[in-house]
Amino acid sequence: MKYVTEYRDAKLVQGVIEEIRRIVTRQWVIMEICGGQTHAIVRHGIDQLLPPEIELVHGPGCPVCVTPLELIDKALAIASRPDVIFTSYGDMLRVPGSGRDLFSVRASGGDVRVVYSPLDAVKIAQQNPDKQVVFFAIGFETTAPPNVMSVMQAKSLGVKNYSILVSHVCVPPAMHAILGSPANRVQGFLLAGHVCAVMGYWEYPPLAEKYRVPMAVTGFEPLDIAQGILTVTRALEENRIQVENAYPRVVTLEGNKSAQQMIEKIFMQCDRKWRGIGTIPMSGWQLRPEFDEFNAEKRFDVGEIKTQESPLCIAGKILQGLSKPHDCSAFGTQCTPEHPLGATMVSAEGACAAYYKYGRHEMRDA
Ligand code: SF4
Repeated sequence: MKYVTEYRDAKLVQGVIEEIRRIVTRQWVIMEICGGQTHAIVRHGIDQLLPPEIELVHGPGCPVCVTPLELIDKALAIASRPDVIFTSYGDMLRVPGSGRDLFSVRASGGDVRVVYSPLDAVKIAQQNPDKQVVFFAIGFETTAPPNVMSVMQAKSLGVKNYSILVSHVCVPPAMHAILGSPANRVQGFLLAGHVCAVMGYWEYPPLAEKYRVPMAVTGFEPLDIAQGILTVTRALEENRIQVENAYPRVVTLEGNKSAQQMIEKIFMQCDRKWRGIGTIPMSGWQLRPEFDEFNAEKRFDVGEIKTQESPLCIAGKILQGLSKPHDCSAFGTQCTPEHPLGATMVSAEGACAAYYKYGRHEMRDA
């Protein structure tokens, strides 16, 4: 397939890795911000092909992983109501709340459905006028446009029984929090190509400049990732603080202006809590007050919610690049994809799930 197979060519990837090996002279810590990139790196063993001077750490760019426990518990409470059809992307169903997950709500009679788009949830609302239909609108900048479209469509069609439970988070404030922390180890960033496809990468140069950290917009295929690492390594070695685009076949500096305008019309910035990390100021989006009628948190009063994380889970440290999954004492023993203690073991983009799926727990035990 054009634009995919050529980016999976092992010889080309090896060539880029050789170039990294040739230019690197000292230790560098580079963070890939996106969980999709983490999975590609672990799946293709790119971290193991790199010279020992380059350490990759895994960032918070996994929407399922950072959705706060309180909101998952809220989702569970709403989904348990007999008058509600609760809709979500599939990977949220197994994410543990304080005591259970959406699968167990479904097993006990709740109407929980997997959809591939929030527009499908609007259709379900039209087909079930006697029910309240809620979509679990989580994600980074990438998933905001379809969520926004669903609200616009419900409004224009006069669908009154549709609402969204919003937990949108944004990449730049999270990077600001990581880089501003006294414990920070990150010296260079691979930026998430799909986020930049929507938002462009004009927001990042001030961040790079402020913290003296080079960055490369990076795609998701092995060659894209190797090129992103080479771009950042070269900048680090040459002491150049730049934001470079290593994914130009998809990303432009400005991004998708019409998507940005749509988002701006429906959402406004707000403080957001990140699971395992805490509240990051102005790091998310919420519905503007004029769209309150589509706000599930306002539509359903679920009362006070008390949450409790597993004391064993160190996902917050992993998501900030301070630990790796096999540093967790529960990894692969008490915590597995079948019995997850934290969201990073469940999500298709979670670092713990990637390490488990591609056999890193077996390597630890060896
Ligand atoms: S292995 Fe499980 S308990 Fe440990 S950090 Fe990952 S999700 Fe949390």
